[in-house]
Amino acid sequence: MKNLNKTAYLIIIGLTLCGIPKIHAQKTIVKNESKKHAKPLQNSYEKYIDANNDAHLKEFLELISIPSISSIPAYKKDIEKTASWLVNKLQSIGINNAKQLATEGNPVVYANWNEAPGKPTVLIYGHYDVQPVKESEWNNPPFTPIILDGKIYGRGASDDKSGIITAICAIEAILRTDGKLPVNVKFLFEGEEEIGSPNFKKFLEKNKELLKTDFAVTGDDIQYSETDPAITLSLRGAAQLEFSVKTANTDAHSGQFGGKTPNAVLAMSQIISSLYDKVGNVAVEGFYNKVLPITTTQKEMIKRIPYDAATDMKILGTTAEVGDPAFSPQERMWYRPTLEIIGMQGGYTAAEGHSNIIPSHAMARITCRLVNNQTGQEIVDLIVKHINKNCPVGATLSFKFKTGYASPMQYPTDTKGFQYVSDALTALYGKQPLQMAAGGSGGAMLSFKETLGV
Ligand SMILES: [Zn+2]
Repeated sequence: MKNLNKTAYLIIIGLTLCGIPKIHAQKTIVKNESKKHAKPLQNSYEKYIDANNDAHLKEFLELISIPSISSIPAYKKDIEKTASWLVNKLQSIGINNAKQLATEGNPVVYANWNEAPGKPTVLIYGHYDVQPVKESEWNNPPFTPIILDGKIYGRGASDDKSGIITAICAIEAILRTDGKLPVNVKFLFEGEEEIGSPNFKKFLEKNKELLKTDFAVTGDDIQYSETDPAITLSLRGAAQLEFSVKTANTDAHSGQFGGKTPNAVLAMSQIISSLYDKVGNVAVEGFYNKVLPITTTQKEMIKRIPYDAATDMKILGTTAEVGDPAFSPQERMWYRPTLEIIGMQGGYTAAEGHSNIIPSHAMARITCRLVNNQTGQEIVDLIVKHINKNCPVGATLSFKFKTGYASPMQYPTDTKGFQYVSDALTALYGKQPLQMAAGGSGGAMLSFKETLGV
């Protein structure tokens, strides 16, 4: 995670400023004619941010240290602790009505500042829950964040506690400097994003009036680099499933039964290899039926991205880029669907020892990223059909499904909201933002569009 930098605060400040005509001149801040008006205002926010950086950083580390893992029930109390922490923080900056609102799952943190009558309302979304951790793969305990070379390492330091703290601190900077905000602001922090926002849409529907807004901004994304501002224009959807293969009631001794007894791990490997063709495309029949060709505009957007394969591969230590070479890496990550095996289990895999078994059971989990008009249900149905068809003799299958698949989403560029964000970023960075897409999913965004119409 990038350190809690000033630029990030300024984006939020810029966004809120762009919402009002009076300071709309701010958008031309980098141009000479308006510099003398806009700069002093921006400077005063920067001053506040600089003066309070240590305190903000301390709070951020505190927030990261609460293990708000939404996918494991044992962390329920930490979810609640995080929600309370956020309510307290919002109240401490003068947003007194901050509170937790119940959903059918984890609570949502809500607050609003509505003392700018006649001005538009901006709703800021973020999520305070995090993904689970494999502690053994961390150099430092994931919930004891540390700062190394100006970067914070800790679970949630980026996704998405940075998005939340940045928004809160930016609003704090304006409130403490000016005593008021230029627009009305609503905060909405979700606690179930990492499990697919299963209760979020219902929550929005129930609270439509309360959440009424002119614009919604999400703090749950990345920018291309510290010096390249970017706007994300589409998200892929997601669909998940788990399936198991059973070849016998119990593992068998390979000496006694080997040579005639079906092996569940082998059957599972055969099924999994059948899911792909030689270049790495998904071999499930119908998988690409609803995928649209990549547009000229999308190709133009990609051309502007300063992508370097070697730099990107260094992040993970990979030695090759895979996938269909008919598409560029960005095209494959943003505009093409994927099917990943996210985990497999089966047979004897204890750290030590060697057991001569023919495994009777194996399990695998799949996550697909979806694009355009693909729906999770359709894709899962196609995969199930494929797995059934490719199940080797002697094996039986069982499936576990999740509900609430995230749909893909596209954002329009011909809106006021897009223009405000683009203007704010251009003003702050002195260059136009890149137009990106995201390979990940955000079910909440689609719910905003469908429920609140923004
Ligand atoms: Zn996130």
